[in-house]
Amino acid sequence: MSFKFPELPYSYDALEPHMDAQTMELHYSKHHQGYFNKFMAAIEGTELTKKTLEEIFGKISTQTAGIRNTGGGYYNHIVFWNSMSPKGGGKPSGEIATAIDRDFGSFDKFKEEFSKAAETVFGSGWAWLIVKNGKLSITATANQNNPWMDTEATNGTPVLALDVWEHAYYLKYQNRRPDYIAAFWSVVNWDHANTSLKNA
Ligand code: MN
Repeated sequence: MSFKFPELPYSYDALEPHMDAQTMELHYSKHHQGYFNKFMAAIEGTELTKKTLEEIFGKISTQTAGIRNTGGGYYNHIVFWNSMSPKGGGKPSGEIATAIDRDFGSFDKFKEEFSKAAETVFGSGWAWLIVKNGKLSITATANQNNPWMDTEATNGTPVLALDVWEHAYYLKYQNRRPDYIAAFWSVVNWDHANTSLKNA
């Protein structure tokens, strides 16, 4: 497995006014790049360079906190960038819409539950929509942990990710995390959710 630092799938200002260009630039080019660089340095010369991220995360309890934090930071942001799109927002359609209605009762209920999970992460972390055995659920993780990791009580394949670290919103929204979460719904990428669900 060779790990690559992927390009951002859109320009820094593409998600304006919901996600501001300055935050996107710093978040991608400093934070995400930093996690990638440190992860590469941490695994250099070890057997982990031959494994997939899924394999590494599945046994992350056997690794150092440094590898967990930087590997998670590398992977989680890739899911996050893809969870947003300048063409996103609105209500879901296709298979993900059907699955949301089936597993949460309605889109509004899902949105409320996911938003609450994101709002109530204490300190830094993530909110996730995941799928396991064909069923959707919502989970939250601390720091750069993710639902692939064997240290997590709830595992599954990520469908959508929302970063609730302060670095994701503080420049534009300051302490108002709920406003940032509301903005996420204006750019959420349902095409990516459908693709993730199909490939899970
Ligand atoms: Mn982040």
